[in-house]
Amino acid sequence: MNQLIPLDQIIPSRVCLSCDVCCRFLEQDSPLAPIFTQTEMENAITNGIDADIFRATSDGKSLQIQLIPNEDMYICPCFNPETSECTIYPVRPLDCQIYPFALMYSQDRTQVVLGIDMICPYGEAEIWAQSFQHYIEYMVDYLESDPVVETIAANWQLIGSYQETVVIVRTLEKLTARLKNGY
Ligand code: SF4
Ligand code: SF4
Repeated sequence: MNQLIPLDQIIPSRVCLSCDVCCRFLEQDSPLAPIFTQTEMENAITNGIDADIFRATSDGKSLQIQLIPNEDMYICPCFNPETSECTIYPVRPLDCQIYPFALMYSQDRTQVVLGIDMICPYGEAEIWAQSFQHYIEYMVDYLESDPVVETIAANWQLIGSYQETVVIVRTLEKLTARLKNGY
């Protein structure tokens, strides 16, 4: 798989750098730990991340990074808690690039939907702003583009379980159809 085009970001860096939500997890085996495609894992390794900290997922293609203890929580090994920066930011995986958007199954698991995680304070505050609504359209167009649909269909562990903290904003029709047709 080739590298996907990086996503434009709507949340200013200064907001994220002063927020303490992303990249930190309550449990070491959190299902929310980032998922990497093979290409994304190779890019992370090239940027200094240890190959041994990735473990295979049940889709047989993608890999999930193993979290490490830090104070009373667990963090992504790519995260620098001193600076709050991602050490592989230019090549961080799609799974991280889309946050606070979340790819997940609908509650009845018949569709793949796009939602916004209300745990993100910026997402919660700005979800109904015009600029955010435009960004939702941009995100849907990106995720429903052919190369991204194919990547997600092959690395289907990128689609998470339904979460109540996530407000659903769209059904991803092409991705849903692609998964129903098999691959
Ligand atoms: S939770 Fe939202 S504002 Fe906070 S770091 Fe993550 S994306 Fe940025
Ligand atoms: S890869 Fe970077 S952005 Fe993603 S969880 Fe790890 S530190 Fe955060």
